[in-house]
Order: sequence, then C-alpha cells, then structure tokens
Amino acid sequence: MQEFYFSIKDNGIKCSACSKQDKGAIKISDVCYTSLLYIYSADAKKLFSFDIPIDAIKELSLIAKVYTDEKLEREYKVEL
Ligand SMILES: [Zn+2]
Repeated sequence: MQEFYFSIKDNGIKCSACSKQDKGAIKISDVCYTSLLYIYSADAKKLFSFDIPIDAIKELSLIAKVYTDEKLEREYKVEL
C-alpha cells in the first residue's frame, strides 16, 4: 500500500520515496491524505463540510498547527 507524507518545507503531500529526501516530512494516514486532497480542491463554502473520525481530526489539527507555526515564524514574522 502506498504511504503518504506531508512536507512542511515544500507545502504539500509527498510519496514515501520523495519524503526520504525531506527529514521534516510527516507520515499521514489514508484518511488524513484524502481529507487534505479534499481541502485543497473544495469550494470555499464547502471546505469544512466533511466527516472524519476523531483521530483523523486530531491528526489534521496537529499538521495544521505545526505547519502554521513554522510558516508564521519564517514567512510572516512582523518586524517591529
Ligand atoms: Zn514522490
């Protein structure tokens, strides 16, 4: 079975071969993978109208948190 990873560095999903060059890539479950594909392609109005198990919600939340923490620090930091 194919495994998928989320790359913080490259902002998206990678296969297991590509993730080997990317130490920060996080392994994701099938449900998480499908949810991310849906989020990428869904209409803004329907973006959050999908049902997934609580474990997958926790997994998605964790990835979103790690991702935004990293990106906010690096790319949108406000200099005072
Ligand atoms: Zn690949």
